[in-house]
Amino acid sequence: MDIKLITSFKNKLVSIKNAITQQITKLRKPVDMGDDIDSFEEEADEATEMAAQAGMVETLKRRVHRVDDALTKMDQGKYGVCEKCGKEIEVALLNVDPESRYCRGCKVSSR
Ligand SMILES: [Zn+2]
Repeated sequence: MDIKLITSFKNKLVSIKNAITQQITKLRKPVDMGDDIDSFEEEADEATEMAAQAGMVETLKRRVHRVDDALTKMDQGKYGVCEKCGKEIEVALLNVDPESRYCRGCKVSSR
């Protein structure tokens, strides 16, 4: 793959990673419990909200992991190669999903 393309994908991945990391930091901020006496319903709402946030953090963490993998592959010169069939991943696909591990064909067939 063209070094210029790789550099642009690298910049993209780094900014995605920064954005996700910021989101995680925000989500991790403790929910304001306040010192007012909450009704039982409100407490239940907070618990639901916290669970939803924990789920989101997990999803985001998985994405950071995939972005990190893609960055590692760049360092190893393996970026943009499908992990399944070994072919080059289409640039159009990487434009949409720069941390993709599979080419379009393998992505479709793995569904
Ligand atoms: Zn493939």
